[in-house]
Amino acid sequence: MAIDSSLPSPILTPPPNEKFATALQFIEEMTKNCDKVQENVLAEILGQNANTEYLQRFNLDGASDRDTFKSKIPVVTYEDIQPDIQRIANGDRSPIFCSHPISEFLTSSGTSAGERKLMPTIREEMDRRQLLYSLLMPVMNLYVPDLDKGKGLYFLFIKAETKTPGGLVARPVLTSYYKSDQFKTRPYDPYNVYTSPDEAILCTDSYQSMYTQMLCGLLMREQVLRVGAVFASGLLRAIRFLQLNWRQLAHDISTGLLNPRITDRFIQERMKKILLEPDTDLAEFIIKECENENWERIIVRIWPNTKYLDVIVTGAMAQYIPLLDFYSGGLPKPCTMYASSECYFGLNLKPMNKPDEVSYTIMPNMGYFEFIPHEPANPVHLSRELPPRLVDLADVEVGKEYELVVTTYSGLCRYRVGDILRVTEFHNSAPQFKFIRRKNVLLSIDADKTDESELQKTVENAYALLRDFDTTVVEYTSFADTKTIPGHYVIYWELLVKDPVHGPTGEVLEKCCLVMEESMNSVYRQCRVADNSVGPLEIRVVKNGTFEEVMDYAISRGASINQYKAPRCVSFTPIVELLDSRVVSAHFSPVPPHWTPERRV
Ligand code: AMP
Repeated sequence: MAIDSSLPSPILTPPPNEKFATALQFIEEMTKNCDKVQENVLAEILGQNANTEYLQRFNLDGASDRDTFKSKIPVVTYEDIQPDIQRIANGDRSPIFCSHPISEFLTSSGTSAGERKLMPTIREEMDRRQLLYSLLMPVMNLYVPDLDKGKGLYFLFIKAETKTPGGLVARPVLTSYYKSDQFKTRPYDPYNVYTSPDEAILCTDSYQSMYTQMLCGLLMREQVLRVGAVFASGLLRAIRFLQLNWRQLAHDISTGLLNPRITDRFIQERMKKILLEPDTDLAEFIIKECENENWERIIVRIWPNTKYLDVIVTGAMAQYIPLLDFYSGGLPKPCTMYASSECYFGLNLKPMNKPDEVSYTIMPNMGYFEFIPHEPANPVHLSRELPPRLVDLADVEVGKEYELVVTTYSGLCRYRVGDILRVTEFHNSAPQFKFIRRKNVLLSIDADKTDESELQKTVENAYALLRDFDTTVVEYTSFADTKTIPGHYVIYWELLVKDPVHGPTGEVLEKCCLVMEESMNSVYRQCRVADNSVGPLEIRVVKNGTFEEVMDYAISRGASINQYKAPRCVSFTPIVELLDSRVVSAHFSPVPPHWTPERRV
């Protein structure tokens, strides 16, 4: 691969056009003046929201300086502000968090009481997010030139949206973006031309959307210079889709006729202009590549001009790197940006670095950022009465870990995002962060995030079914199995069956799988039902005594016998192998759980 990942600083290389030069200049200015920009951002946010109920509740009295803010405003979690959020959802239009009207709710993949968190946002935040997007290509262009000479094959999707009782739309941030005028009427930009027609991206039916995007990607295969999805799991899902649908896709290409399962009339109209006439050569090529059992390097075989995979593989997505490497022959995987529903944070200034070397530079203009030192042995006490003095963006120290806290233009004040970051170095006076992990996430396959207490609750709900069979669960653990596409949750159960003649049947254990899935949070169930991005949950029953063996193994590696607790999630290969070697039966959820976009009350 003729891509140089060792350029010292992107800013040293001359940019090709004025727009890019301005963007790079902007990054330089922001990062050189990190602390000053942060001070101004806070003053601007507090000035804008001085008359809000929230700031008045804490007697900020119009102050907009850091000291007063830090001494009066508590550091909060979603649960702390949830009653106020509910008021907005119910229709209260008074300025609770923000003086600007709340335009919609962004639904995060993080959940509270089993439902997606609702993040109020304002119209102008869309421009701020757009600004961050506009910085990505100028940086990328420094490492991979000529991206204006072809197209990007990106698998992009919108998700279902709902209305709150008060009439505000609630949807994920990317759905909000793809449905916005900024996206739909974006001016032509040779550096951002996608193979996917907007009609396909905007189709809510995930099969029709994916099918059309894949078909267009195949039709324009020579022009594709980068292949991507938001997260790694999304790109692998697309590869799996190709595995399952290549015959039909090749059929459409060889006949020039669109698959009759594509019934969306906007897509049909658009495809009339793209799928113009039969192309038997291309169809034969696709058949030849796809009927080959070996799918190694399939991405570069089908899209030979691909220079990189544009997917995020940091954080929970790192588990997909080996598979992406297999399918792409080890193409670079730049993780371009770090963002959330609460706030878009920043970008990766060295996108060609290897995934484990990726650091994100938080752009100081995006919001006001503070950091809670993360030292598990010495946790910071966060009193509401005496708000703590947290570390400012410019003051974090290289090598230390922190939990991110944001204050946003939309009115979130000192809000704990839940991400743990480690400072790797500075670009000018702005720190760069390695994403370490999201707090409290035990299992994650796609957008789903399951924490320990959720897993405990779901397992307990399934226990109830075992009572009739005089059976109890001695011990359990879990594993995110990403060897299947889509990946799925595995729950290892060691059972104590008191009367083996009347123990639980396979059917009962399948029901247990389903009960667990029904008890999972709404993001998990949406991934299962609407997105097909998580496969059916599996229970693997292990031989009696297996968990004792796991304990022996842990102790042999230095765990304390007195303090030993069975891990609730395993990922360490020898332990997974040990568990797998003791499996006596495996059972899958027979049907998907229940899910609708409506929130459960
Ligand atoms: P959401 O609230 O659903 O928008 O998800 C935002 C969360 O996704 C962040 O708080 C992170 O935990 C995670 N995330 C976003 N971008 C990245 C990234 N580049 N690397 C790792 N995790 C990320």
